[in-house]
Amino acid sequence: MIDLRSDTVTKPTAAMKQGMIDAEVGDDVYKEDPTINKLEELAAEKLGKEAALFVTSGTQGNQIAVLTHCVSGNEVLLEKDSHIFYYEGGAISAFAGVQTRTIPSVNGAMNPLEIESAIRGQDIHEPETGLICIENTHNRAGGSVVPKENMKGIYQVASKHHVPVHLDGARLFNAAVASNCSIKNFTQYTTSVQICLSKGLGAPVGSIIAGDHKFITKARKWRKRLGGGLRQAGVLAAPGIIALTQMVERLAIDHENASLLASGIKNVSGLEVVNTVDTNIVLVDVSKKGLNSKEYLERLKENGVLAVPFGPSLIRFTTHYDVSKEQVQKALATLNTIH
Ligand SMILES: *Cc1c(COP(=O)(O)O)cnc(C)c1O
Repeated sequence: MIDLRSDTVTKPTAAMKQGMIDAEVGDDVYKEDPTINKLEELAAEKLGKEAALFVTSGTQGNQIAVLTHCVSGNEVLLEKDSHIFYYEGGAISAFAGVQTRTIPSVNGAMNPLEIESAIRGQDIHEPETGLICIENTHNRAGGSVVPKENMKGIYQVASKHHVPVHLDGARLFNAAVASNCSIKNFTQYTTSVQICLSKGLGAPVGSIIAGDHKFITKARKWRKRLGGGLRQAGVLAAPGIIALTQMVERLAIDHENASLLASGIKNVSGLEVVNTVDTNIVLVDVSKKGLNSKEYLERLKENGVLAVPFGPSLIRFTTHYDVSKEQVQKALATLNTIH
């Protein structure tokens, strides 16, 4: 099987497995796990923040950020197809008791002026705007890079109105590699950030949230409340350290493979690439094949290729380090045979 469903399907590398075996551990709830401490220091430094916290998943990281920044009854501004709104089971309403207000975008980039007009004033009838969330790269927009200039514009508006900005940067390293710049170019325009270790970076488990000391102290308590206080978690942090130190540069290969896949698909009749393919995601409309996405994916699977549905006639392919260039070429050959 050529598995292009998601970059979450990556298996830990040999170095990661060895790192897990060799990891020095302690009780992380007592802050005594040296490998977790090392990962958090390293992550804070890379993200240009005062402190960082290892969390069990991207979803948990985003939830902790919302819980830390907001109080119940707040309103959160977020992009209309963002992961926090679309794919987290309504958790921010269920747990943080906030209401969401969605903002449209162009490829994930929201207009700072629209954000500004959505920020609430002092009227007694209105909720208070507790948080603005940005997603970069933007998953449902097809892994598009939200330009740092756009993030800057939003951050300036937010700062003017004293509203914090949380960045769901599950794939932020993809954005940095695709833009050929340091990840700090993006994180400088945020109050807090979440990055996934377990996507393209290949760690088996975990995410990082980062912010200032005050944010992380409060976030640590929320993590405990949510049952995310782990004990000898160094066994999970060791592959995370390898993810941050050895797996970032190679994301460029995933981007090349996605670009190869997209240009090949453009020559397959009946298939249409609908995203800009900035990073490792290719969105394809299959409607001209006379099949819906589920039917098309069935045929693909019968022929040894896996992808995921992204709408009634839309499917998503995601490249990652467990799919080689040769396999991408093979997947293309398969796409050419499906009618
Ligand atoms: C995957 C993803 C998450 C959530 O990560 P999990 O570890 O799967 O909970 C959050 N935001 C975005 C944009 C994602 O792609």
